[in-house]
Amino acid sequence: MKEFAYVRARSVEEATSAYAAHAGARYLGGGTNLVDLMKLGVETPTALVDVTRLPLDTVEELPDGGLRIGATVRNSDLAAHPLVRDRYPALSQAVLAGASGQLRNAATTGGNL
Ligand SMILES: Cc1cc2nc3c(=O)[nH]c(=O)nc-3n(C[C@H](O)[C@H](O)[C@H](O)COP(=O)(O)OP(=O)(O)OC[C@H]3O[C@@H](n4cnc5c(N)ncnc54)[C@H](O)[C@@H]3O)c2cc1C
Repeated sequence: MKEFAYVRARSVEEATSAYAAHAGARYLGGGTNLVDLMKLGVETPTALVDVTRLPLDTVEELPDGGLRIGATVRNSDLAAHPLVRDRYPALSQAVLAGASGQLRNAATTGGNL
């Protein structure tokens, strides 16, 4: 077991400061990818900066007709969002084709990039 610090960020500024303060830090979304890599020893972060409580969990319509998808929007919520289903059905279908329901409920858009 490798020790690591854990920081639950309450603002974007706190998240970026905590990340900068720890060389080898990683942001933590749903952890569906990162935690697996840690278990295998592929990722050995010195600190996890949990970004899941940040206010980045909305899908917003933009004036030019596009969408802004927050980094902490869960995959399930993205696939089910009315604007995504209506205007970007291929995106909704692609997200639903990935992983399992349990994973999609935890996984975030930021973590998927
Ligand atoms: C069984 C299984 C099946 C899977 N199937 C698929 C699939 O079909 N398609 C697919 O695309 N993926 C799949 N995945 C991979 C993974 O679940 C997804 O990529 C998921 O969206 C990752 O999101 P997360 O929030 O859990 O990321 P995490 O595991 O928390 O993080 C992943 C990476 O992104 C970084 N990160 C997280 N949030 C942010 C942020 N806000 N800003 C910057 N960096 C960030 C982390 O530091 C880490 O490096 C699967 C995983 C498993 C275990």
